[in-house]
Amino acid sequence: MSLLTGKKALIFGVANDHSIAWGIAKALHEHGCEIGFSSVEMMLEKRVRPLAESIGSKFVEPCDVQSDEQIARVFQRWEDQVGQLDIVVHALAFAKREDLEGKFVDTSREGFALALDISAYSLVAVSRPAAKLMPSGGSIMTLSYYGAEKVVANYNVMGVAKAALEASVRYLANDLGPQNVRVNAISAGPIRTLAASGVANFKKMYGMFPDITPLRRNMT
Ligand code: NAD
Repeated sequence: MSLLTGKKALIFGVANDHSIAWGIAKALHEHGCEIGFSSVEMMLEKRVRPLAESIGSKFVEPCDVQSDEQIARVFQRWEDQVGQLDIVVHALAFAKREDLEGKFVDTSREGFALALDISAYSLVAVSRPAAKLMPSGGSIMTLSYYGAEKVVANYNVMGVAKAALEASVRYLANDLGPQNVRVNAISAGPIRTLAASGVANFKKMYGMFPDITPLRRNMT
């Protein structure tokens, strides 16, 4: 019997086989966890469903996390089709390309609101229905980045969104802890994904990391 045999996880944020969400899904699956996926509609049939099927997942539902209705629908479907929920992975973020280059001071009100809504508030919006399906506890995890703590060139509004995300993790952990629901953020190093390609000069930064990281290599 594996560590996660009998556990059930709902994963938000797979875009393709380079997604961090997909790496997490595979690791959970290898340890015996049953997985379901929710991603934006555009990615669903061509990219996400074939990946889901490759690990025997039947639950694949669309959700734009900017929509409360779509979030409610996904969790209703999960309750109807699966029932038990032990793990939620929130591995998604978005900012306009023009807000991931140049100066942070030039961020528009609209760009700021969009980045914070998708990349930070959505964790709150997802945790609420998730916790309702975790009456005897569970785990909610999200992905952050060092740009939440220190200025990282071109990360700009996403650094502010990650700071909001990390603060949200602490408040959510405090709210949901008494119900035995843990809420954590993993701060990943740079990984070449679709989202990362939106940050100006990401490739250059990625190339420099093996010289300074403890393992002297990038994650792939
Ligand atoms: P990715 O492009 O594979 O995943 C980002 C996901 O966000 C995509 O599936 C995309 O569809 C989804 N998304 C965007 N807007 C959405 C919306 N409105 N509703 C629902 N989903 C939406 O890239 P990734 O690098 O795997 O990103 C996953 C998480 O990891 C993000 O939070 C990212 O900030 C974080 N992260 C990435 C790195 C890196 O270097 N790649 C480092 C640290 C943290």
